[in-house]
Amino acid sequence: MSTIRTPWPEPLETLWIVLGDQLDPDHPLFEQADPAHDAVWMAEVSEESTKVWSHKARIALFLSSMRHFAQQVSAQKIALCYTTLSETDNKGALDAQLKFDCQRMQPKRLAMVWPGEWDVLKSIQDTADALSCPLLLLPDEHFLSTPEDFRHYASGRKQLRMEFFYRQMRVRHHVLLDEAGGPEGGQWNFDHDNQGAFSKHGPGSVAPPMHFAPDALTADVLALVEDQFEHHPGSLAHFDWPVTPQQAQLALDDFIQHRLECFGQYQDAMWIDPCQDLPYLYHSRLSAALNLKLLNPRQVIQKAEAAYRSGRVSLASAEGFIRQILGWREYVRGIYWLYMPAYRHQNALCANAPLPSFYWSAKTDMACLQAAIRQSLDYGYAHHIQRLMVTGLFALLLGVHPMAVHRWYLAMYVDAVEWVELPNSLGMSQYGDGGIMASKPYIASGNYINRMSNACKQCRYDPAVRLGENACPFTTLYWAFLINHETSLMKNPRMGMQVRNLQRIEQSEKQAILQQAQKLRDTLTCTSADVV
Ligand code: FAD
Ligand code: SF4
Repeated sequence: MSTIRTPWPEPLETLWIVLGDQLDPDHPLFEQADPAHDAVWMAEVSEESTKVWSHKARIALFLSSMRHFAQQVSAQKIALCYTTLSETDNKGALDAQLKFDCQRMQPKRLAMVWPGEWDVLKSIQDTADALSCPLLLLPDEHFLSTPEDFRHYASGRKQLRMEFFYRQMRVRHHVLLDEAGGPEGGQWNFDHDNQGAFSKHGPGSVAPPMHFAPDALTADVLALVEDQFEHHPGSLAHFDWPVTPQQAQLALDDFIQHRLECFGQYQDAMWIDPCQDLPYLYHSRLSAALNLKLLNPRQVIQKAEAAYRSGRVSLASAEGFIRQILGWREYVRGIYWLYMPAYRHQNALCANAPLPSFYWSAKTDMACLQAAIRQSLDYGYAHHIQRLMVTGLFALLLGVHPMAVHRWYLAMYVDAVEWVELPNSLGMSQYGDGGIMASKPYIASGNYINRMSNACKQCRYDPAVRLGENACPFTTLYWAFLINHETSLMKNPRMGMQVRNLQRIEQSEKQAILQQAQKLRDTLTCTSADVV
């Protein structure tokens, strides 16, 4: 596809800006834009792919979905100014490209839906100011709550917790309520039913998610990404993501029909199968379609609830899944807009180590990390527990700077957009915000990974051992973390048991743990390849 510049109406009333994560089939422009007076502006800017060292599949997914959306705009006979990557002017920056096009097109005003990223909002506002062009910002109707709702919810509360926000959202949107208006099944949360591990036989025959073979437009994008981003991490070999709203609907229906029933029970489980890749297990892999707005979260929630009401899935599964979308997804967005821009610079634990180079190559002898990173490079996907309790946990225990961790997550996953990635990585996973997202640091030894997966059976280390040749690095670093942060952790009632266990260890052994942990840090971070 070459750059499209269809003749635009002159004079041009409104130039509608559509960003790569605003590809909503119900975008307000389809209702409000007047083809006789308005035009749509979209741009593939290389900055988006290079400000972090983006996975090839992440770049391809955005570009392919944008190009499919552009077709939808053209089909509505609305003038389109779409700049492709091959246009090298304006140094690949969004604001420079917008300024350049506005100077040629001379719109009377700009309009857009509220962007997902703080920096993008600022740069577009600054550009509009510099051009003396009014900017109309429309609320983002994709979400079920607004940043103002969240600010209101947060005001006056000493501590923010997702659970209470989620309950309010359930009531406000009438989701999974009984006839009396209470929680369906008498409880709000079935989390205790959602922490199962697979038996020693593994996950059994999980129906693979629906596969979307690249059409001609996507095939062009894949070739372009291979050509222009050859040295970026990851592979395109498995690229089969939904790139249109129609495909996203099919992916949703397929998930509800085949995997939702087991989602709840095995939400936290991990499995390495030496004979076949099982990246998605019982997960929905809908995050990318949701974040690009190909899929509306209301439909996802309604269909999951309908599956429960019709007896096709259990309440625990439906609730566990709905909680992720109506609870966590909305909650992290609220946190993002409440605390940005300062949030990004928080580093409550004063962590400052660089990210080990194996995060970009999967070259490590730790079987759990090797599998999670290999899968991320191959698919641009890892499920929540792989992110939180394998790659995230190791970075936390090693003391990696939260900014380096943030940049890795933003680069690595097809669903990565800052408003959801940053609170999850810097907050939930690294405790960099000192407890805004999570009430305690998510720390565990190798024993947790052993309980939730079969990785340790394939590893040269022993998850139960903290000292010596066979000691699992997670386990050594876990105890070192407790020793190093004992004073502050003691003040947290949720850390009581872990701190009491630490206090049973002899001083001489603590010294040996700290020495072994330091050795690990020296070895693992000496070949750091932070691409920051
Ligand atoms: P499922 O397990 O099927 O869950 C269903 C849906 O719930 C997801 O599609 C997602 O939309 C939503 N969801 C689940 N957990 C969360 C959560 N913690 N926060 C927000 N939404 C959630 N999610 C992203 O969408 N983009 C990111 O960049 C991202 N980065 C993350 C980084 C870290 C360190 C961690 C711990 C989590 C991150 N998550 C991110 C949240 C979560 O891991 C992914 O949403 C999920 O793994 C996507 O896979 P799935 O669609 O199969 O999800
Ligand atoms: Fe990971 Fe430790 Fe288990 Fe090896 S022994 S797979 S490093 S948790």
